[in-house]
Amino acid sequence: MKEILVTSPILPDFEEFTESLREIWSTSRLTNNGPFLQRFESALADYLGVPYVSVMTNGTLPIILSLKALGITEGEVITTPYTFVATPAAVSWSGLTPVFADVEYSTGNLDAQAVEAAITPRTRAILGVHVYGVPCCDEALRRVARAHGLPIIYDAAHAFGVRENGKSILLNGDLSTLSFHATKVFNTIEGGAVVCKTKEMKQRLDALRNFGITGETTFSEAGINAKLDEVRAAYGLLNLRKVDVAIQERRAISRQYSEALKSVAGIRLMEIPEGLDYNFSHYPIYIGESYCHPALAPFAQPDKNKRDQVYDYLMAHDIHPRRYFYPLPFHAGKIASDPCENAKKISSQVLCLPIYPGLPVEILKKITSLLVP
Ligand SMILES: *Cc1c(COP(=O)(O)O)cnc(C)c1O
Repeated sequence: MKEILVTSPILPDFEEFTESLREIWSTSRLTNNGPFLQRFESALADYLGVPYVSVMTNGTLPIILSLKALGITEGEVITTPYTFVATPAAVSWSGLTPVFADVEYSTGNLDAQAVEAAITPRTRAILGVHVYGVPCCDEALRRVARAHGLPIIYDAAHAFGVRENGKSILLNGDLSTLSFHATKVFNTIEGGAVVCKTKEMKQRLDALRNFGITGETTFSEAGINAKLDEVRAAYGLLNLRKVDVAIQERRAISRQYSEALKSVAGIRLMEIPEGLDYNFSHYPIYIGESYCHPALAPFAQPDKNKRDQVYDYLMAHDIHPRRYFYPLPFHAGKIASDPCENAKKISSQVLCLPIYPGLPVEILKKITSLLVP
């Protein structure tokens, strides 16, 4: 049988995309803030309910350019170890030191108290991650940030389209970054963006993504090449039309998993907060040592925890779940005095199950029947 992966991308309508390609071919305008890029940016800002976006070529450069746009050029940035390695790596690439603070056990998001405890005279910013698209506790983090005069950046790679009480969570903090990589809820194959609140910030980010060029003969500062080309902008513009239906399908899959797994002893499910207009970007389950299943016997080894046994068990049935996030990217930064116990615990228990539009219902049933003892 074909291996079932954890995610599968949504694609724009092929005929419509061909039409867009025809338009690009007819003008030979391929990149450099072209008409498709501009249309994509304005459609994106409308869809997300935010004032400005600066679209870029992936989801890692937006973190680097956000730090740069906020003028953070030396010192430490407090961030979470419970994330994809791109988050701390972007801090390192900026010549800054990522300092890891622990997360909340319930959400996997930065814990405001741990953040406050990690602040030193060298701290310059807080970089949170909305893990699986569930928002960080912005109010608590903002209180800490304000008390210490620090900006907040959110790596919102998982939080495309998420709203809390009707308002985009991409407006939390000073700047938010997105990834449009093929594995995400919305994709431009590779791509990303910074969401910002003022025209001045948008202009600064647009200059930074284009070598710092501000005019025919003028530079604002040293920038980089982070531009998205016209082909992927056209693809993104069309793919935006697919997101709402994709999220509805994700919601239905998430409900079916939860219904089947909610009373399995030893499996904890993610809580989706009330009032959250969620995107169902992931379906994590947390497998404790109390989880028991007779079918795990062939996978049991003294040094392998229950989660890893379940991982091997599902893999043996051609289901390829992912251990997001394991191992934790401690190598990419430094741990202050905080042992990050919650992050380590969640990282040892988490398993993300396949969730994407078009996931066949018989596969979903197969996965839940494998997991229910
Ligand atoms: C995907 C992801 C990124 C990086 O995005 P790319 O587009 O692959 O560069 C950064 N942070 C998190 C949390 C991600 O999941």
